[in-house]
Formats: sequence, C-alpha cells, structure tokens
Amino acid sequence: MEMIRFDQVSKRYPGSHEALKGVSFELQQGEMVFVLGHSGAGKSTLLKLIAGIERPTSGTVLINNQNVSKLRPAALPYLRRKFGLVFQDHKLLYDRNCFENVALPLYINGVTGSEAGKRIRAALDKVGLLGKEKAMPITLSGGEQQRLAIARAVVSRPSVLIADEPTGNLDENYATEIMGIFDAFRQVGVSVIIATHNLHDTGDARVLRLNQGQLLNAEEGTLIS
Ligand code: ADP
Ligand code: ADP
Repeated sequence: MEMIRFDQVSKRYPGSHEALKGVSFELQQGEMVFVLGHSGAGKSTLLKLIAGIERPTSGTVLINNQNVSKLRPAALPYLRRKFGLVFQDHKLLYDRNCFENVALPLYINGVTGSEAGKRIRAALDKVGLLGKEKAMPITLSGGEQQRLAIARAVVSRPSVLIADEPTGNLDENYATEIMGIFDAFRQVGVSVIIATHNLHDTGDARVLRLNQGQLLNAEEGTLIS
C-alpha cells in the first residue's frame, strides 16, 4: 500500500523563486487525485517530488513512511518502479514500433523473452491497442499515441500512475477516452495522480488546487465547473 504524504514541502529551483510553498497533504493507495492549477502553479514540481525526480528544499516527502530525501541512492530504482509516468508530449521513441516502445521499461529492468511479451500484450490490451504491436507510433492518432504512452507507463505494474497534462494536446473525445482508461486503473487499485489545467468532471476524485506554489484546498467530491 503506497501512502504518499507531504509535510510542509517547499521547493526552490536554483536561481528561481519558490515553485512550492509549505504544501501538506496525504494520499491513500487507490485514490484518484487531480492536481489543478494554472501554468507555473507548481503541478509538475509536485509530481516530480512524488516520483523522486526532484527533492524538496525543505519539508518531507514520505512514501510508505519512508523519507524520500533520506533514501540511499541504491534504493531509488526500487522507489521509481512504484511509479508509472505519463507526459503530455508522450515521449515515445518514433523509430521503434509499439511493442518495442512498451518493452523498454521491462528491458531496462531485465525482464525479457516470453514473460516480457506477455506483459507487453497485456498492457496494450488494457489501453485498447492489442493488434498494433508492429505499428509505428507516427501512424497512430494523437489519442492512440497517448494510450501507447500509458501502456508503457503501466507495463511494469506500478502502484501509482502519475500523469502530467495527459490530455493537454487532445480534443475532447480523445481526452474522455484517456480519462476512462485512468479510471479503469483506479478501479483495480492503482493510485492515479493527474496534473491538469483543463477543467474535468472529477467525479468522486479528490482535487488538490495549486496557486503560485500554494495548496488552496484538498476537498473531496468536487465538481469543477
Ligand atoms: P506547472 O506544472 O503548474 O506549470 P511547474 O512545477 O512546472 O508548474 O513550475 C512551477 C514554477 O517553478 C514555475 O515558476 C517554473 O518556472 C519554475 N520551475 C520549474 N522547473 C524549474 C527548473 N528546472 N528550474 C527553475 N525553475 C523551474
Ligand atoms: P526535463 O525537462 O527536466 O529534462 P523531462 O520532462 O524530460 O525532464 O523528464 C522528467 C523526468 O522524468 C526525467 O528525470 C526523466 O528521467 C523521467 N522520464 C522521462 N520520460 C520518462 C518515461 N517515459 N518513463 C519514465 N520516466 C521518464
């Protein structure tokens, strides 16, 4: 059970102002959370702190009661494996086919052969791209490319899925489809954390609202309008 807790977290990048100021909240395993805020509000920074990509300047980030800043470097790869990351611009490899794109995280972790093949097809199936193994990403629509990026993010079976503006470049139909896929992962117990500046019907998901690095609220069951 991955519990994420921020305790008075601030982040200042070298030579810059504070991107986050005194942010505190707690997320339980299996929650779906939207991080809302304008461009520059600190959404990406918050996600990077959760995933261990950045460290707080002050305050503590706890994952399962472990202080991320105090982890030995050798422990970081184990932490990173708990998180699947999805970005607005997909970060796909355009000289590799769909199968090879999804295979990459597995190969990096030493999973190969038929075990890898099984997991890659399972991941492609979950995002509705089974049968597209040999297709090159450039031949896919924008929505399909984002689904491929989600397959790559989940192929290592992370307990937390983190998405930074996953629907930012997509029209509304594709965006709804992508949100449906995230919701399906939530329903099988994966925590889902989505940063966005778009307004979505957040259903019963929680909303963390950032404004200039400060958390405004942490309400539940909010319909954003
Ligand atoms: P958002 O994702 O909400 O757009 P970010 O977390 O990307 O916000 O950025 C928050 C603030 O931190 C912005 O003012 C941004 O310019 C600054 N910032 C983000 N990354 C860096 C960095 N690597 N170096 C310096 N400043 C940064
Ligand atoms: P920057 O703009 O600072 O170079 P990126 O937005 O490219 O950062 O990536 C942020 C972090 O996410 C990087 O530390 C990178 O290692 C990691 N990252 C990028 N792409 C992926 C991916 N597809 N899967 C997992 N981690 C990724």
